[in-house]
Amino acid sequence: MRNCLYLILLLALVGTGATPRQDAKPNIIIILSDDVGYGDVGCYGATQVKTPNIDRLAAQGLRFTDAHSTSATCTPSRYSLLTGEYAFRKKGSGVLPGNASLIIEPGRTTLPSLLKQAGYVTGCVGKWHLGLGRESLDWNQEIKPGPLEIGFDYSFIMPATGDRVPCVFVENHRVVGADPADPILVSYGTPVGNEPTGAKNPELLKLKASAGHDNTIVNGIGRIGYMSGGKAARWTDEDIADVLVRKAVAFIEKNKDKPFCLYLATHDIHVPRVPHPRFASSSRCGVRGDVIQQLDGSVGDVMTALGRLKLEEKTLLLFSSDNGPVVDDGYADGALEHLNGHVPAGPFRGAKYSIFEGGTRVPFIASWPGRIKPGVSEALLCQVDLMATFAALAGVELPADAGPDSLNLQAALLGGPRESGRDHLIEHAGGLAFRKGPWKFVPHSPKSGPPDPARNQLFNLAEDPGEKKNVAEQHPDQVKDLSEALERLRKSGRSRP
Ligand code: CA
Repeated sequence: MRNCLYLILLLALVGTGATPRQDAKPNIIIILSDDVGYGDVGCYGATQVKTPNIDRLAAQGLRFTDAHSTSATCTPSRYSLLTGEYAFRKKGSGVLPGNASLIIEPGRTTLPSLLKQAGYVTGCVGKWHLGLGRESLDWNQEIKPGPLEIGFDYSFIMPATGDRVPCVFVENHRVVGADPADPILVSYGTPVGNEPTGAKNPELLKLKASAGHDNTIVNGIGRIGYMSGGKAARWTDEDIADVLVRKAVAFIEKNKDKPFCLYLATHDIHVPRVPHPRFASSSRCGVRGDVIQQLDGSVGDVMTALGRLKLEEKTLLLFSSDNGPVVDDGYADGALEHLNGHVPAGPFRGAKYSIFEGGTRVPFIASWPGRIKPGVSEALLCQVDLMATFAALAGVELPADAGPDSLNLQAALLGGPRESGRDHLIEHAGGLAFRKGPWKFVPHSPKSGPPDPARNQLFNLAEDPGEKKNVAEQHPDQVKDLSEALERLRKSGRSRP
């Protein structure tokens, strides 16, 4: 009986939150920018663009120098962030066309579904690019399954990317501004409708393509894929950043009294780069710099909203990017010609699409005033870890069969030492690479044909962060160990115990 009373007393104590601070669930905002490289913002060394808001976030928070997107391109990177699973394990998670089916199975435990379970209201605003619906989606009907079916309470998205049709926003299950009298048709094979295309009517383009991007013209810009109809629903590229940040701030305002999680995936700085007139020619490195400054404006708008609503100390605000930088990505927008000494990947080799560090090592800033001490962290972490880390912050258990590669790095995120980060990481850009200690192992992985072990690469990042010197021949034992460890992790289907 006495034991029983003791137990009841103990449970009551736990129930009232006897350990105060840790129990307060922070709001969580992830601002995931697109194609922003390690060297693209001021606090990571950029000088030809001005990013005062992102720099201020870094000054009041923790700036990571070895944080990674899970892959060097959009779709797999976002798949991993939301599922806690390395994208290389998932067939069909390469860069998707704009009419692809949803690649995250409804019902599986995801980052948003887990937080929802922990009592959070979850919102998704911005670029999706994870597919929508099932086969042959009708854009004029309910569009599902999508974000709402994988754990978000609210969504306002661009279905794929800015350079792909359909060029419309989808709010929850419907195209915004759809007109039944002007039905939307989308095709990635044969042309639909008879609208001008970049290939046939280049004279109508305000932004010419440098590669591809020559199908249907929307807002004077050739896209990938064909669309017809939905004239009133089409976005204006110049306004996308403003529309998205307005929706994000509205979500924050609406849910300010509950714990909320907002995934704000900006269109900036993906192509086509078409800044609002107030940012056009605002930087010293061309249009790519202008959209970086526009992105910085969006980050500032979110920070301002948090301040106005007195949510700063209740909110963990993350800023990062879905993969490394790219300069010419298919439009002749002068980005390459106007770089003016700007170095998008900073000190690292490679860029978007690349297995070298520039492909996935990205800006990553965590700010939570009063909880995260300002500073710089060298801890190794990856966006695939956000799921387990947020689960810990929200006080909910990550089920054994969910987020197989997501490690709880709460300690590192809150300012722990380097050792509180990952001790290994698989990097992905088509092929794989393996990080452990100072070493990075890049097994030869041709697109076709058998790999040639003589072309394996090994770098010591502590001595050679720019991956200039392949030392595989000098360290055969390291190559063997790392190769076996990578193979084990690949085969086991999971990273966490
Ligand atoms: Ca991207």
